[in-house]
Order: sequence, then C-alpha cells, then structure tokens
Amino acid sequence: MPRPCALCATARAVLKRPKTGQQICKDCFYAVFETEIHNTIIDNALFKRGQKVAIAASGGKDSTVLAHVMTTLNDRYDYGLDLFLLSVDEGITGYRDDSLETVKRNEQQYGIPLKIVSYQELYGWSMDAIVKEVGMKNNCTFCGVFRRQALDRGAVLLNVDHIVTGHNADDIAETVLMNILRGDFSRLQRCTSISTATDETIPRSKPFKYTYEKEIVMYAYFKKLDYFSTECIYSPNAYRGYARAFLKDLESIRPSAIIDIIHSGEHFETPQPKLGEKKEGGGEAVIRSCERCGYMASNKLCKACVLLEGLNRGLPRLGIGVEGKIRRQHEGKSEDIGRTIQHFSELAVTRTLTPNLVTSTTAS
Ligand code: SF4
Ligand code: ZN
Repeated sequence: MPRPCALCATARAVLKRPKTGQQICKDCFYAVFETEIHNTIIDNALFKRGQKVAIAASGGKDSTVLAHVMTTLNDRYDYGLDLFLLSVDEGITGYRDDSLETVKRNEQQYGIPLKIVSYQELYGWSMDAIVKEVGMKNNCTFCGVFRRQALDRGAVLLNVDHIVTGHNADDIAETVLMNILRGDFSRLQRCTSISTATDETIPRSKPFKYTYEKEIVMYAYFKKLDYFSTECIYSPNAYRGYARAFLKDLESIRPSAIIDIIHSGEHFETPQPKLGEKKEGGGEAVIRSCERCGYMASNKLCKACVLLEGLNRGLPRLGIGVEGKIRRQHEGKSEDIGRTIQHFSELAVTRTLTPNLVTSTTAS
C-alpha cells in the first residue's frame, strides 16, 4: 500500500529525503528544500533590498539549481534583488565550452542577463594551454587563483554588490575534512563562513551552505532543470576525491554527518591574526593592492600576477610554494615578464564606457 507523505499526510510519498530520511511527496520536498534556503538567506541577512547579485554559473547542477531557486525566492518573498548570471570560461575544450552552452540557455530560461569572462581574454592563457605547460599536477592551483580573480573582475564589469556561489554542504564538509587532514588551521575556520568579504572585495556567499548535494540533484531531476553533468577533464580527483568518498561513506551510515562536520568546523577555534593584526612572532598580515594589476594581495604582487609571470617566462612553478627559491635560481635570466593583467582601475573605466555590457552573452 502506498505510504502517505510524512509532512502533509495526504499525498503519496514518492521519495526519501536524503537529509532526514523522511518519506515525502514531491510538493513537500520542493517546499522544504526552498524554505530551508530562504531561511538560510534570512537568518544570515545575506542581501539587502535593491542589491545587484551575480550568480556564479558554471552550467553544472549546483549553479543551475541556485539560479532557479534564487529566481523563485526573489519573486516569492520579494527580496527586491537584481539578478545576473556570471560565468567564467577557463578555456577547457570539450568541457567548459559545452557547459557554457547550458548557461546560455539558462539565461533565456530564467530571463537573467549573462556575462562571461574568459581566462584567455583576462590572462592571455586558456586552461588547455596552461595544462600543456604545467601538466596535470598543479593545474587546479592556476585555475583556482585565476577563477577567483576572474569572478571579481566579472562582478566589477557587471557593477554588482554581491556574488553567490553554488557551494553546497557536501563541498564545505569536504573542505573541512581536507583542511584537518592537511593541518591547515588558518583555512579551517574560514572555510565554513557563509559569507566572505573584505573592504577590497565584493562579498561572496553560499546560500547552499546547509543544502545536501543529493537533494540538489533530486531537485534538479524532479524539476527537469537543464544542466550539464560532466566532470572537468583536468580534474586530478586525488585528495579531495578521498575526502569525498569518506564523507559519502559516513553519510550512508548517518546522514547528519555532513551537517555535523560543518558545525564542528564552525566551532574550531584557532589562534590566528586577522588581516591587519600582528602575527604571532612579529610581522603583519596586511591586505594591499597588487602593484601590477591592483587586485588584493598579501605581498607586492597578487598570486595571479606571480603565476602569470611564471607562465610567460616559462617558469610555471613560480608561485607554487617555492617562489623565493625559483626566483633566486632564475634571477637576471629574463626580464621579460610578458603580458600582464589589466589594472583593476581601468576595469571601472571600461564599465562606464560600455553600459550595455550586461546583456551580452559573450566576453567583451
Ligand atoms: Fe579548473 Fe578543472 Fe581543476 Fe576545476 S578540476 S579547478 S575546472 S582544472
Ligand atoms: Zn596582480
């Protein structure tokens, strides 16, 4: 005999909710899924009325569901937000070019303007070219550093106040585990923050901080959302892969393990200097502007400028933990640092000169 929904007790239960194990109907699933995200947004006061918010969109399940839910909640609860899609084209043939086609369809489906920024255009290097140069070992370091700055540059071009990303509870729990396994205490506490912002950067938030990956997949499936599900062809899958497999094992025994790990991460207390405060043993952790491109940096140059210089000089390991040593080895060998990144201050000029930018579907 069909079991009634554990929440409404009238409709037939058609799914088992991964987070709680409850047997519920489709409508109740949509309702609890969306309401929990709404509560996360409200409890953490993520937005202010009238703000312009860019949804970081890759075409994958997380960001597609995020675009759908943000649009739905913005209408339902009248948040008063102006939404945009912001995509980064890393230049990965057979992966990102296909997923960007999905984002372009999402632009039409949700009626949200899309802006695409590309590595090739910003840095003069695509990931395909970077992998040819550096191989498959440190490629994600380049990609992560370049993506962070690309999103901030795209946000400046869109003139938005806030960026939301599709990081979900599983991603955050995995990161907590990885930081513990690596002994990276400075990142341990930060990685559970729902919102990150400094005076120098546009705030970024994770409205899916407490949303389970399995529920995102289920929501996308039942709502028949249009998303791209292939993994990056350059994904090394090593360390994070083990943390992910471990987390999935824990989840299968006790579904609350994901939230419990996040809560543990939130409550770790590690003595560490805040930006601008004295470090233990002297020195100061300061945030400044990169001398070359104007992006925030903790040294004279930002990480992206150091990595780019390494690529251009044929020294791709420059900036990957051994910067000082490699710099000394090659001192005086080549003064040509090649192409540099456009200065942030010029970006603001570009923005005022191109007011129609937000409706463009290609990088400009
Ligand atoms: Fe970039 Fe692919 Fe690595 Fe992700 S897995 S950081 S997209 S190279
Ligand atoms: Zn820089």
